Amino acid sequence: MVNYKDLGLVNTREMFKRAVAGGYAIPAFNFNTMEQMQAIVMAAVETKSPVIMQVSKGARNYANATILRYMAEGAVAYAKELGCAHPEIVLHLDHGDSFELCKDCIDMGFSSVMIDGSHLPYEENVALAKKVVEYAHQFDVTVEAELGVLAGVEDEVSAAESHYTKPEEVIDFATRTGCDSLAISIGTSHGAHKFTPEQCTLVNGVLVPPPLAFDILHEIEKKLPGFPIVLHGSSSVPMDEVNTINQYGGKLEAAIGIPEEQLREASKSAVCKINIDSDSRLAMTAAIRKHLAEHPGDFDPRQYLKPARENMKKMYIHKIVNVLGSDGKLAE
Ligand SMILES: [Zn+2]
Repeated sequence: MVNYKDLGLVNTREMFKRAVAGGYAIPAFNFNTMEQMQAIVMAAVETKSPVIMQVSKGARNYANATILRYMAEGAVAYAKELGCAHPEIVLHLDHGDSFELCKDCIDMGFSSVMIDGSHLPYEENVALAKKVVEYAHQFDVTVEAELGVLAGVEDEVSAAESHYTKPEEVIDFATRTGCDSLAISIGTSHGAHKFTPEQCTLVNGVLVPPPLAFDILHEIEKKLPGFPIVLHGSSSVPMDEVNTINQYGGKLEAAIGIPEEQLREASKSAVCKINIDSDSRLAMTAAIRKHLAEHPGDFDPRQYLKPARENMKKMYIHKIVNVLGSDGKLAE
């Protein structure tokens, strides 16, 4: 049993309070590999931003739960080595699907967990979230729960269609579960294929997806003033990365994401955590494909993972500075 405080991590409570009040959002970047972790830490340190490093159940199986705990501890030490005296790094479980998984992560040093009972009937979602909150709060670990269903595919999480969050449910849900933040469904979606071309409108040769349901977001904000709201599935799927992948032998068809202007607008509201996973995958794959195509003789992983890490870092910095606005927002 290890407490996250011994690893130098923080929970989300204070950073969310500041983010809601300040009209910006904290980046939540998924990671599975050392290069992603390094890129996230370098970007957060350079921009002086708090950051949430999050791990899905699939990532935990991929990287190994024990190694992840040391990677998180290493991330804090690395941030300090890079010159950040008081880094604010959260280790968060993305889409926990059972009480046992959440408990296991809390016992292994996570400072925040998500319990996703959004696919369950309402009362079961309440009961499950409440049980996780009761355990987590004993160790000052913060809990994200979800109401409403996002479409798309992300590791084990998938749903064919989305169901928007019902604003009339949020007060009851937040009060009875005691959760610290709430993921809502207002039109974002998991994965790199968030929308079909048929769902989009063609504007100047670019497919533009339907806008996020800001009316629902504003209604939720009115019901729960100042309560931290989370957006999942918020990669923008940059066309230059998709084009690079396809130019160098890839085959990504009709990949469509959430326009960054929409996320920038959402960041100014009670939305204080925005999840970005696919964009990092695309940045990494694009750089690796390009490097290997241009240097067919290379076989040292460092030769192609270094540009991959650089490209991810560039993307993370862009999100922090130009989309979420969390740069310069460390407490000290
Ligand atoms: Zn998600």
